[in-house]
Amino acid sequence: MSPAERQRPVVVIGGGIHGLGTAFHLARLGFTNVRVLDAGYFQSGASGRNGTLVRGGFSSEAWTRLFAFSNRRWIELSRLLGENVMYTRRGYLIVSQSEKTQRLIEAAVPLHRDCGLRSEILELADVKRLAPALDTRTVRSVVNLADGGTAPHHAAMKGFLKAAQRLGVRVEYGKPVTAIEQDSRRATAVVAGGERIAAEILLLAAGAQSPRVAALAGLELPAYPQRIEAMALEPVRPILRPAIALPDRLCYLHQTARGEIVGGAEVAETPQETLATDLPVLGATARVYAEMFPAFARLRILRHWAGMLLATPDWGPLLGLHPDLENLWVTTGWSYGIAGAAGTTELMAESIARGEAHELIRPFAVDRFRRGQPVAEGAIVLAPAEGH
Ligand SMILES: Cc1cc2nc3c(=O)[nH]c(=O)nc-3n(C[C@H](O)[C@H](O)[C@H](O)COP(=O)(O)OP(=O)(O)OC[C@H]3O[C@@H](n4cnc5c(N)ncnc54)[C@H](O)[C@@H]3O)c2cc1C
Repeated sequence: MSPAERQRPVVVIGGGIHGLGTAFHLARLGFTNVRVLDAGYFQSGASGRNGTLVRGGFSSEAWTRLFAFSNRRWIELSRLLGENVMYTRRGYLIVSQSEKTQRLIEAAVPLHRDCGLRSEILELADVKRLAPALDTRTVRSVVNLADGGTAPHHAAMKGFLKAAQRLGVRVEYGKPVTAIEQDSRRATAVVAGGERIAAEILLLAAGAQSPRVAALAGLELPAYPQRIEAMALEPVRPILRPAIALPDRLCYLHQTARGEIVGGAEVAETPQETLATDLPVLGATARVYAEMFPAFARLRILRHWAGMLLATPDWGPLLGLHPDLENLWVTTGWSYGIAGAAGTTELMAESIARGEAHELIRPFAVDRFRRGQPVAEGAIVLAPAEGH
């Protein structure tokens, strides 16, 4: 990049993990005028309300190539940022109970390995050793992703924030973007907190609010806001080393360093925008826990909370240039946004610097649904919303 290109004003809309992380990598690549504007407070979005689970292996090639890259970056992130992001490589088990899921995840093991992941089908004795709390009577098979684990979001968010600020990125919370000015097919400025801020490059990273922000430029995104909930059980002695996903029960969980059991089970509900929790979801999670981890039935629920995701028709993120505005880049629609953050933020920054989407993010282009090319991924723990 020439010095003039490096000085172009970049405005990042949204200071969640994707906005902050991409801003950090842009500064690392030499961009000298990067500003992050966020409507809420630090960690008020999904990046402060999640389960913190990280894995690289899925069933599709597009997901696995992107998330395997990101898993590798999680392992190196503390060193890169000069901040401890507390990534713990505790392993990640994908448990199948149906024949369909068994076939899907076992068939994916060679793909995982091809992407550099340590992935293997476990013997039952090893499952019992790694996760003694799991009732294995209905389990057909278990794939262990040894490089998966957990990334406490507060540590990663703080790490990205401090590292970005050290490189000169200006980050402002409590500053919602309320207008996007444009000249024919290019954005020229945003208005935030009454201030007009010129932008030659815009990055939309506003999580569940992204369609509303895109609408400020008269644009549409193929996605809708969706609440999901999680809960924490009281701390107990270590009984669950790896993180676990049970796709057949739409359930995921892990035991934190403090001993709490954190996770959730998804239920299909009408899309709604609220941070209120409700009893049916709590009940569904408690039921799956009690059936699959009988010892948990005796534990008290400490906390139960909700966060907002931006759901896309195939649950994959929306990444790359928006097809209808020349200088609007997009990183949103994240359902596994913590797992994807360490690597995709770097790929987004590289793509912006080169003016061309990196090959690993190309399958997730914003216009893939328009082109009839969604990315089918079956090894995820998400419930499609009613009516979608
Ligand atoms: C309960 C729960 C459990 C989860 N568990 C996991 C998990 O275990 N593993 C995993 O990988 N993922 C998990 N996720 C998903 C993950 O948290 C998200 O995918 C990820 O945090 C999305 O990050 P983001 O930066 O795109 O969005 P966010 O963190 O939501 O950030 C978007 C930001 O945009 C800001 N904003 C909105 N409107 C405007 C505006 N007009 N102007 C400026 N700023 C604006 C918001 O204030 C917000 O801070 C979970 C999510 C939830 C809710």
